[in-house]
Amino acid sequence: MKIGFIGLGHMGSPMATRLCQTGFDVTVFDLIPTAVATLVKVGATAAVDIASLAQHCAIIITMLPQGEHVEAVYLGENGLFAHAKVGTLFIDCSSIGVDTTRQLASLATRQGYSHLDAPVSGGMSGAINGTLTFMVGGKFNDFNQAASVFAAMGNHCVHAGDHGNGQAAKICNNMLLGISMIATSEAFVLANKLGLDKQVFFDIAANASGQCWSLTQYCPVPGPVPSSPANHDYQPGFSTAMMLKDLRLSQAAAAKVGASTPLGAQATALYTLLNNHGLNQADFSAIIKLLQGDLT
Ligand code: NAD
Repeated sequence: MKIGFIGLGHMGSPMATRLCQTGFDVTVFDLIPTAVATLVKVGATAAVDIASLAQHCAIIITMLPQGEHVEAVYLGENGLFAHAKVGTLFIDCSSIGVDTTRQLASLATRQGYSHLDAPVSGGMSGAINGTLTFMVGGKFNDFNQAASVFAAMGNHCVHAGDHGNGQAAKICNNMLLGISMIATSEAFVLANKLGLDKQVFFDIAANASGQCWSLTQYCPVPGPVPSSPANHDYQPGFSTAMMLKDLRLSQAAAAKVGASTPLGAQATALYTLLNNHGLNQADFSAIIKLLQGDLT
């Protein structure tokens, strides 16, 4: 089965690499030639443009930063809808808006294509190790058709319902993550001011009711979790810009359906502040610097 992969960044590159290593016949495209060259070294074929990739692949995966990039790749003059064969299955793993996804899926269906929204959780380490979680919206038959593709890149794959439900799950999850990272950071700032050693507080909270992923897997202070970005000068990981994008998507969706998300709104305001302090490319756990008053 020929698979096309467009968008070879922090996430897309290791995901496409895993497909190659699993034995899939993968053709890749990215605007950055060095990103393509890296994949060719692990067995992928380079496409000169999206049109040529589209003409030769039965399944096409996209992993792009934002909705506008996804729309450009799908709807552009030389994009997927202009060149893919009828019957192609598109799998968009980017995190984008629910409405944008539903509009694309509707257009895809009208043109004789299949479409799944399949955003992921698990970060770069999950992409490298093939342990991503996929949250998938779309027709169940298409979900089943793509099972071996998801299995090559992840170890947990959930059908969330019809088109857009994968994106809905993703923005709800990331709103929760943004809030929990701020809460975890606040707790460390207060613990420090109260004279509590950070490792001692970590050991207690990790085994108490404050336990959460932001604490035990992605701790915002250096020390307790050696793999967390706090130990690497807050290099992403998952950037503040990406977190802010997802929080804004959550707030746009909440406004549209009238959901009350006051903590999501507060998290969006705090990440906007961090972003405006120039830390947009720092890992999102750098929110602790804002709370510490340490943005030098
Ligand atoms: P990235 O910016 O590292 O990579 C995006 C890639 O897309 C780049 O290589 C870029 O050149 C390419 N691209 C952009 N426009 C293109 C076009 N028109 N044609 C071809 N290639 C194009 O982004 P990322 O960190 O890999 O994230 C991708 C998506 O995954 C985002 O929606 C993000 O929110 C989501 N996500 C990221 C993480 C993470 O930890 N980084 C985790 C989960 C989900």
